[in-house]
Amino acid sequence: HDVVLRAEHLDVVYEGRRPVHAVRDVSLELRRGEILGIAGESGCGSSTLASALGRMLRPPARLVGGRVTFRGRDDDAETDLTALAGEELHAFRRNRLSVVFPSAMNALNPVTTVGRRFDDIFRAHRPRMGAAERRDRARELLSTVGVEPARVAAHPHDLSGGTRQRVVIAMALALDPEVVVLDEPTTGLDAVVRREILDEIVRLRDRFGFGVVLVTHDLAPLLELSDRLAVMYAGRVVEHAPTARIARGAAHPYTRGLLRSFPGRSPDPSAEPPGCAFVDRCPDAFEPCAGRRPAAHRLGPAGDPEVWTAACHLHAPPPAGGGRQRERRA
Ligand code: SF4
Repeated sequence: HDVVLRAEHLDVVYEGRRPVHAVRDVSLELRRGEILGIAGESGCGSSTLASALGRMLRPPARLVGGRVTFRGRDDDAETDLTALAGEELHAFRRNRLSVVFPSAMNALNPVTTVGRRFDDIFRAHRPRMGAAERRDRARELLSTVGVEPARVAAHPHDLSGGTRQRVVIAMALALDPEVVVLDEPTTGLDAVVRREILDEIVRLRDRFGFGVVLVTHDLAPLLELSDRLAVMYAGRVVEHAPTARIARGAAHPYTRGLLRSFPGRSPDPSAEPPGCAFVDRCPDAFEPCAGRRPAAHRLGPAGDPEVWTAACHLHAPPPAGGGRQRERRA
């Protein structure tokens, strides 16, 4: 498979008197041009993971283990993002991998016009572009995301929430990145606008071919829009599979609950129990669950190149030399 972004065994801790281990041993890959959905309730670590993937963690959050590598279309080798710093990292972001955070307002300067923000990006990263070209490109980008080009003259407070978010997405695409990480890109928007923005993201992906990591607490749109899904609970990926498989029948009891949209919050990941973190809420919990942490077991037909894993004792392979495996309820 053509992997553009790869996370291996990521561990992120919020340091402090009572450290919070927010992301635990997460490994994922994003293929070129695909949409990888990351789902989970608030507190599950998905936003922290998004920041870690884009090398956007800010203290007190710190990557304490693992690495993120990137291999672009024309790259001969992988770049270890975790090793980049300073100017190199700055140039890498936006140019090759862009991150969009939940609050569009934070990404826009309230006293600066939209056009000026684009101008700043181009001046910093495309020094050879002339003023007229920068202006034209800003207008073109706005129209690409469905915003009237004349809005270059607007200030953020002149724009609706949905339009602001579109502008931020246009900014993220300004330098033609190969990966866009979107962390809750539709927070605070009403349902209709939310849907429009998500559809827009798919349309842009189809047109430009970048890979998307889409983090949202809302599983429903991910089931429709993403190619593959990773479901997080208490800082860990508990199920990872092509979305169509999960839609047909999730393997992990937590994913099944999420599909029935039971409400809740992921537990504090720093207080991880010795066994499965989901044991208190799991309708299928059985004998080994409280005492032993489940490994990510591989599912699906033997030899299948598609990865489908569920971290759950229900899916443990039968012990060598026979023995009964607990029947799987799909
Ligand atoms: Fe439920 Fe046990 Fe699977 Fe955890 S390991 S999800 S408690 S069945």
